[in-house]
Amino acid sequence: MTTRLFANPAGLEHTTPLGHPEQVARLEAVETALGGPDFAALHRVAAPMAEVADLLLCHPRAHIDRIHRAIPIIGGAALDADTHVSPGSWEAALRGVGGCIAAVDAVLSGATRNAFVATRPPGHHAEAERPMGFCLFGNIAIAAKHALDRHGLDRVAIVDFDVHHGNGTQDLLWNEDRALFISSHQMPLYPGTGAPTDRGATGNVVNLPLAPGSGGAEIRQLLRDTILPRLEAFAPELLLISAGFDAHEDDPLANLMWTTEDFSWITRELCAFADRACGGRVVSTLEGGYDLNALAASVAAHVTEMMERTG
Ligand SMILES: [Zn+2]
Repeated sequence: MTTRLFANPAGLEHTTPLGHPEQVARLEAVETALGGPDFAALHRVAAPMAEVADLLLCHPRAHIDRIHRAIPIIGGAALDADTHVSPGSWEAALRGVGGCIAAVDAVLSGATRNAFVATRPPGHHAEAERPMGFCLFGNIAIAAKHALDRHGLDRVAIVDFDVHHGNGTQDLLWNEDRALFISSHQMPLYPGTGAPTDRGATGNVVNLPLAPGSGGAEIRQLLRDTILPRLEAFAPELLLISAGFDAHEDDPLANLMWTTEDFSWITRELCAFADRACGGRVVSTLEGGYDLNALAASVAAHVTEMMERTG
């Protein structure tokens, strides 16, 4: 058994305006990084299309229809100043959601111990009724709801280490006491949410801001002192990860100073926790990361650690 990689070639058909940081080249860089000989053992599968019923786990019908209607036949369209769609965006987004759902199915069935979904557009900024921050649908929140409502799990935890606050995931799971959502993020930074005083309807949201300029020492301390104890206390049956790599020191959109080795360490710690708590069951999906070299190296480091746990 090895790590399962859900690939989404349709993500290459979701185009954004020239110069946009959330670009096709990101997924190409990830595919290239995971295409090398070190990753020959990955079990690669194509991410399936999600159904509308899957989107309805988190989004009202009107939001889904609005996104669908906004997809242009040619060229591009803007949903807001940051968030764009092209003719290929619908399939790209639905395969991203579908990949996360299929990854949950694969991990919960025991077919694989852990899985990574290499996809774009990302999802953690998409709120129930508002696409934003390059995101259309809440990939990881939908995966959590799928695990809870359809697989009957009682407790699912989500750790979001993207440099931006996962406002969408927070919005979608605010009232969901079967889900624990923990987000570390730079503050101040887009989207401006994520204050520690925002704790969810039942204390199920944990927001952990990091100061601009902070680096590996700070996140490692936060993980040891706060994130892991909160996870241990919650005792999830499945761990989901919103894996954004834009806290890297080379990233152009933020000001944290994490290194590739920091991403290895964080992944190692989270997977070790999952080994103790839930049979190693981890589903991770790509969120941000905008320096192509840093993104490629960090994804490679992340997936390498996941593969290590399956051997
Ligand atoms: Zn981000």
